[in-house]
Amino acid sequence: MYVQKFEDLNKSDIAIAGGKGANLGELTQAGIPVPPGFVVTAETYQKFMEDTGINDKVLDILDKIDINDTKALQAAAEEIKSIIIETPIPDDMIMFIKEAYNQLCQRVGEDDTDVAIRSSATAEDLPEASFAGQQDTFLHVSGDEEVIEYVRKCWASLFEARAIFYREENDFEHSKVLIAVVVQKMAIADKAGVMFTVNPSTGEEIALIEGSWGLGEAVVSGDVTPDNYQVDKANNEVINVTISDKKVMYTNDESGTSIKVNVPENLRMERVLSDEELIELTEMGKRVQAHYGEPMDTEWAFERDNLFLLQARPITTLGDAEPAGDDDASVDGEVLVRGLGASPGIATGLVKIVLDIDELDKIEDGDVMVTTMTTPDMVPAMRRASGIVTDEGGVTCHASIISRELGIPCVVGTGDATKTLKEDTGVTLDGKKGLVFEGITEVSEEAPQAQAVAAEAPILTVTEVKANVSMPEAAERAAATGADGVGLLRTEHLMLTAGIHPGKFIADGREDELIDTIADNVQIVADAFYPKPVWYRTLDAPTDEFITLEGGENEPREHNPMLGWRGIRRELDQPEILKCEFKAIKKLHEKGYTNIGIMIPLSQSPAELVKAKELCAEVGFIPHKDVDFGMMVEIPAAAIIIDEYLKIGVDFVSLGTNDLTQYTLAVDRNNEFVAKHYTEEHPAVMKLIERTIKKCAEAGVTCSICGQAGSVPHIVEKLVKFGITSVSSNADAIAEVRKTVARAEQKIILEAARKRLE
Ligand code: PEP
Ligand code: MG
Repeated sequence: MYVQKFEDLNKSDIAIAGGKGANLGELTQAGIPVPPGFVVTAETYQKFMEDTGINDKVLDILDKIDINDTKALQAAAEEIKSIIIETPIPDDMIMFIKEAYNQLCQRVGEDDTDVAIRSSATAEDLPEASFAGQQDTFLHVSGDEEVIEYVRKCWASLFEARAIFYREENDFEHSKVLIAVVVQKMAIADKAGVMFTVNPSTGEEIALIEGSWGLGEAVVSGDVTPDNYQVDKANNEVINVTISDKKVMYTNDESGTSIKVNVPENLRMERVLSDEELIELTEMGKRVQAHYGEPMDTEWAFERDNLFLLQARPITTLGDAEPAGDDDASVDGEVLVRGLGASPGIATGLVKIVLDIDELDKIEDGDVMVTTMTTPDMVPAMRRASGIVTDEGGVTCHASIISRELGIPCVVGTGDATKTLKEDTGVTLDGKKGLVFEGITEVSEEAPQAQAVAAEAPILTVTEVKANVSMPEAAERAAATGADGVGLLRTEHLMLTAGIHPGKFIADGREDELIDTIADNVQIVADAFYPKPVWYRTLDAPTDEFITLEGGENEPREHNPMLGWRGIRRELDQPEILKCEFKAIKKLHEKGYTNIGIMIPLSQSPAELVKAKELCAEVGFIPHKDVDFGMMVEIPAAAIIIDEYLKIGVDFVSLGTNDLTQYTLAVDRNNEFVAKHYTEEHPAVMKLIERTIKKCAEAGVTCSICGQAGSVPHIVEKLVKFGITSVSSNADAIAEVRKTVARAEQKIILEAARKRLE
């Protein structure tokens, strides 16, 4: 479909609507107030690129560039963008997009209504990495011709130099990252800003809100240092209000175009949000977090008294590795400038002042970059910097988000660093306290130790908290959360990244290559977590996903792939692939990675487990003796007859609640039409979960969970009560889940103690 309304999309539709579009659909469906709109789908872009024949031309240009040559990268980006801008769009596409816009106009009762047009890349806003500000947004677009023009500009923005750089750096294949375009009624904000539903640096349960006058652009771009508020989510108490001098705002001129103007003198130091508005925002933040089951980063706006949410995405920086600098060290010396601590750590280096994008080349490894405000184009240079200092911005601006993600100490909102600091002089910056000191200071080591222990004592839980990993490159970050191992390593993604169908390796007589591809990728994960356990899940290959791989043409076209040829049932029909997987894990064990276990997905009968074990033994790798061998419980049948599996013998069981929910409720997890009926908390699903956990406990077998429910704190609390021994969550959720687990465990101990006293 060329276009889809928000009402018809949900968060699983990233492939259709990109991260932003899918989220707006999800929020709309959850009843959160969102200005109405539609999405020009990723498929439309893909069809445009392919049907007009420009795809190959573009890939050719990309093939030849060196992304670290800033000038060549910019020239290639310009060339590609002009190809996209100059190629006519097929008529039927134009017709559908115009029709959707005209329907939106009718719905809001305005001719040529103003819309915001934002690009929404299919790899953007993914939990793995924040791509903040990477693609363009166009405000106040009006009339169907203009809508078409800006949709096309969004398509072209996929090839901004910075976007190309990001993809190369994060190993996203250019041809696999598509772009959808969100077309949304403009909210004409009187005040706007951002809200984190937990403190993004510490994970603490407070709403951290930044707000300023006019459209949200001022806050998101960092043009203004916004007011900063903190609200305790437990009792809605406003615990901190910092009012800033808000110099500029974005507003509309007479023609409706957004322009940057000075904030009227009497409003500059005026508090933007009242206590009532803060509570309204916090309440909305709680609903959004509860709906998604994880802490969220949102953009909001008040249009007169009406609050809207414009954007929501998971916070990408929670539980990150300690930043590069020495976070707890203290620095002495003369303070040259003060600002907000945006990314903790101590950095030293020579000041390089960047007032224009052309000056980026002067940043060399280890310099301190000083600029008015960073933009996405600056990311390659930011990577080289040891520290970043900006004149403008708050703790949620571009510089803050990106430097936290890169682990580079950063001080924002200093007001005048570009004027006060002198080019090529040595400075030391403290990204926690928000200070820049004169000279390259020795960092004092004494006091901090004790402080670190007191403030950051690790949370110990008896229940293990592990990570789900899909991409090897995400393993380091997941391991840095302190996770107790990997409770699910999804092999499908290794194969999808390799790009070649495993069946093709076999058909071409390239078994050894298949074994090496699996072993090399799994080794990266096993290394990152060594000696903690990593459960390698054998291939659960749905036909509709594997069809896209080289050699995937022969995949059967199934009526319902979710109920079809996947998981262990498929692997037993194609034992050569399964054997290659066993051989790959065996090879890694022989290299010393004995921390890897094997987990069998989607089993419906114990005979499958028996057969899988036989095949493993056939390659000279004896289950339970040489390697831990476990299974997932994903089909209700397996949960109901779990005793029979336990009798045969398994080293561990893991609840795959994503599939268990869809099969218990007869709700296809990929089908947006029934998405609202999908809930792990349905009593029938919870009963199967409880039953499995209890039966495993009776048999003394480890029971874990690796479905999405394991990343949802209030469900995890119940699982701990049921007696689950381990929980495997998404990397982003680990800190929060660990806290929930600790609390739930303490509650159990306390209740038991109280009972004894009665
Ligand atoms: C599950 O089904 O819960 C699971 C973890 O497996 P997947 O999401 O990969 O199907
Ligand atoms: Mg599953």
